[in-house]
Amino acid sequence: MVEVRLENVVKEFGDTVALKGINLHIKHGELFTLLGPSGCGKSTTLRIIAGLDYPTSGKVWFDDQDVTNLSSSERGAVLVFQNYALWPHMKVYDNVAYGLRLKKLPKEEIDRRVKWALELVKLQGFEDRYPTQLSGGQQQRVAIARALVVEPKLLLLDEPLSNLDAKLRLEMRSEIRRIQRELGITVIYVTHDQEEAMAISDRIAVMNVGTVEQVGTPREIYERPRTEFVASFMGKTNVIHAKVVERNGDRVTVEFGSFRFEGLHYTGEKDDVALVIRPERIHLKPVEDAVEMEGKVDLVEYYGFFVEVVGIFDDTRLIARSISTKDVENLRPTMPVKFYIKREDILVLPKQL
Ligand code: ATP
Repeated sequence: MVEVRLENVVKEFGDTVALKGINLHIKHGELFTLLGPSGCGKSTTLRIIAGLDYPTSGKVWFDDQDVTNLSSSERGAVLVFQNYALWPHMKVYDNVAYGLRLKKLPKEEIDRRVKWALELVKLQGFEDRYPTQLSGGQQQRVAIARALVVEPKLLLLDEPLSNLDAKLRLEMRSEIRRIQRELGITVIYVTHDQEEAMAISDRIAVMNVGTVEQVGTPREIYERPRTEFVASFMGKTNVIHAKVVERNGDRVTVEFGSFRFEGLHYTGEKDDVALVIRPERIHLKPVEDAVEMEGKVDLVEYYGFFVEVVGIFDDTRLIARSISTKDVENLRPTMPVKFYIKREDILVLPKQL
């Protein structure tokens, strides 16, 4: 178990600045996720932590040790790749035992540890199979067993579920969480899937073009995004661009189209703002201390226990998510509709996108 710190890590590839000065502090025994769109620098960050790549400037710390210039094997961190990288000509047992044989451990010790690791990933009985005789999910388990068998201080997982179908992804993400909890090991996990990140992580760092925009628990990131980018990246959300037209202490009045909302909380300097509203916070019946919007139904989408109603308000489209009831389901396109949003559920952020 190890604590990892990145201090002002910059990585340049020729003219491309992949990381623009990353600061992160990953705690002992934490499942920490790097989340962001393609090309934002997640894999580069992970490779630098693993020691498979070196920063152009900045430092990497494992506990109190500066590991910036140490090789991967000196660090005791193991990276599991997206494509698992199993040796096709070796049986499951030999794939898992490989790292231990390199360390020249006694045969009985190797046997004991391989058994332990295969049990941990629930693959007892598969020792004599070749990787091609396994499903994608089983191959992924072998890759995790092979990583864990050397008892790494730190496990790094780069999009480990991206080659699996939807059902297996769900199963394996619970498995990874279970194994991490059982061993109490520090895990750094990379994904571009916000739902996966929310489900699996203790904390998440949301990355955007080589920078970290926000670090927090899944709940903090979802409910209190600090930037428009983070808000719009974390699941389906409504973002309205508006202008601050009046200020009164930490309360502002904003306008967009023909709409005017008073009494919203905002302390930023910019007058160009983004109003962020989660679909599940929009009501179709009056609620206290709410703004009211009148428009027309554009779409009604039935998802089972909830329904999404898309409303059009001048040029603004808003999605409301509501528990499924007959009166909501009976709304039809072009029908008049009213949306009610509590002032406290409208997050006002400086416009960014
Ligand atoms: P993805 O989810 O698509 O894997 P990512 O967030 O992991 O993306 P990185 O692979 O870290 O992103 O890449 C960050 C940036 O650095 C990208 O612009 C990429 O093109 C660039 N980059 C990464 N590796 C190299 C390299 N070896 N040479 C040149 N540029 C690179």
